[in-house]
Amino acid sequence: MEVRTRFAPSPTGYMHIGNLRTALYEYLIAKSQGGKFILRIEDTDQGRLVEGATDLIYRTMEMTGLHYDEGPDIGGDFGPYIQSQRMGIYMDYAKELIEKGKAYYCFCTKERLESIKETNEEGAAFAKYDRHCLSLSPEQVQANLNAGMPYVIRQKMPDTGTTSFTDVVYGEITVNNAELDDQILMKADGFPTYNFANVIDDHLMQITHVVRGSEYLSSTPKYNLLYEAFGWEAPTYVHLPAVMRDAHHKLSKRHGDKSFEDLLNEGYLVEAIVNYIALLGWSPGGTTEIFSLKELEEQFTMEGLSKSPSIFDIKKLTWMNSEYMKAMDFDKFYALAEPKLKEALDGTDLDLKKIAVLLQKRLETLNDIPALVAFFKELPAYSTELYTHKKMKTNEEIALSSLEAALPVLEKLENWNTDSIHDALMDLVKELEIKNGQLLWPVRTALSGEPTSPGGAMELADILGKEESLRRIKEGIALLQK
Ligand code: GLU
Repeated sequence: MEVRTRFAPSPTGYMHIGNLRTALYEYLIAKSQGGKFILRIEDTDQGRLVEGATDLIYRTMEMTGLHYDEGPDIGGDFGPYIQSQRMGIYMDYAKELIEKGKAYYCFCTKERLESIKETNEEGAAFAKYDRHCLSLSPEQVQANLNAGMPYVIRQKMPDTGTTSFTDVVYGEITVNNAELDDQILMKADGFPTYNFANVIDDHLMQITHVVRGSEYLSSTPKYNLLYEAFGWEAPTYVHLPAVMRDAHHKLSKRHGDKSFEDLLNEGYLVEAIVNYIALLGWSPGGTTEIFSLKELEEQFTMEGLSKSPSIFDIKKLTWMNSEYMKAMDFDKFYALAEPKLKEALDGTDLDLKKIAVLLQKRLETLNDIPALVAFFKELPAYSTELYTHKKMKTNEEIALSSLEAALPVLEKLENWNTDSIHDALMDLVKELEIKNGQLLWPVRTALSGEPTSPGGAMELADILGKEESLRRIKEGIALLQK
């Protein structure tokens, strides 16, 4: 049987890290087995609809490379793929269940339902429907329907026995049927509940693997009873543990945790985010951590999924992001860096490509660019303490004499480029019989005014140009003479 998975997001206006991980695993389960990956938009909670939210889902899938084989915007044999366009489908199935004795009409008013909650000792949250309407005779039901009384349709749970299923991640799950609530399948407005619609949709779309958050684990026996009632085969379930902020808290957008869009805005690369997310709950079994999407497709197996919750570690993502930038083709890196460089160095005629070369190897995120390159535009006010560096064996006194020695040498230099600056400075090191760092650190410091900089003395001097470099060295000398 062909493997078919679906990503079924509700258009909320942003992409949770956990949701993106679900999408990725659905995609990988399908692709690693030569199957199909389907996008279904679950937009029936009209109260939560956000303008443009569905487009954001399409865009996210496109950016991340999670290309689906069927979906609202590309079609397929099992559409419509937008739940709100499927509203005519569900009532007939609900009625089929009534005929089979697996569901029933319920005419209870809100007031009555509230009153059972109040009388239930366990409190409202655990209040089960008391099956008041299950005892209505077919004649009473018909009379109520004829009178136009509002109704819902409820699933009739078995009174005895247990329902079990084996989850790929959590293993065998068993519940006592007596504990299950006769959940609503069709609401009074004639629309299905999520709990009903997802079962019908997954069946009609021939979904073989359902991947979703572990918060759905307790509802799954109810879904399985629906499959059983219809005589359909239930899918394989893959429930995923929550992505955590720390040992005790789930990642939560509402509590300020970042969405996929937030991470992009903070300068993280799509590829690095996808790679990092793949490892939040799945382990490849070796020590390799860097995987392209293509490599993930080849290596992914469901056995590598873990039920212990993963903590979202921004430091790890940041490390991964820098690895991706280092490994990236320069032109691609430059295309990403250029807008930020242009903005930060607006009004200068600095060679942005040369700066980008220096940045590529030491950048954590693209958003670090402005702060890292600001000194190229304007030398910051700095303290002469920066000239003291233990490892470079320099202090303010040595720095002053090194800068004073470097100035005339550089002034004389006609051909200004990294190599010529390098040769001139290294000759000077020999002549003065000092350590490299005792000359290069002071020059680097005078040129940048920063404790660290992308690039050393020669690269900075080359990029800043002769005139500006000499000016900054003179400024350094003046500072140190004070
Ligand atoms: N629309 C549901 C959600 O976003 C989908 C859950 C599922 O995958 O079945 O939580």
